[in-house]
Amino acid sequence: MDTNADNMILPFAKNIFTQPPYKSNPPDLLGGFCSGCNDYFFPKPGYCPKCLGNIQTRPIGNKGTIYSFTVVRTPPLFDLPSPYAIGYIDLIKTKLRVFGLFDPEALDQLKIGARVVLSVKSLGTDSQGSPRLRPCFILEPENEHTMI
Ligand SMILES: [Zn+2]
Repeated sequence: MDTNADNMILPFAKNIFTQPPYKSNPPDLLGGFCSGCNDYFFPKPGYCPKCLGNIQTRPIGNKGTIYSFTVVRTPPLFDLPSPYAIGYIDLIKTKLRVFGLFDPEALDQLKIGARVVLSVKSLGTDSQGSPRLRPCFILEPENEHTMI
């Protein structure tokens, strides 16, 4: 029996990120890939926005750098931590710029250009108040002790 409590919590949305358990495969964002255009999209569209062809679901990458971010101090929806940070991450694997949450426990360490990696944790709730898994980007360990 799996005792990891996060495994019992449902994701806030389907087909946005890979699902636990993550034993040998770390969490990854799921996007769309068009083999005709050799291009990735996030979130996955219903069809390729360039050629209108079929789109496949593909992992699009779980590591990147912070392009921009902001700390939100207004009362959050879905019982997210307050304050919390959102922003854009440039993914290394697919070069996509994605919008996402950042680790709410490291807001004062966020900086543009910092390397981040995807994590999935129990963050906030759904509209009914039940806990939900959400992806968020955390700083890679080598950023933690950087002296400025
Ligand atoms: Zn296409």
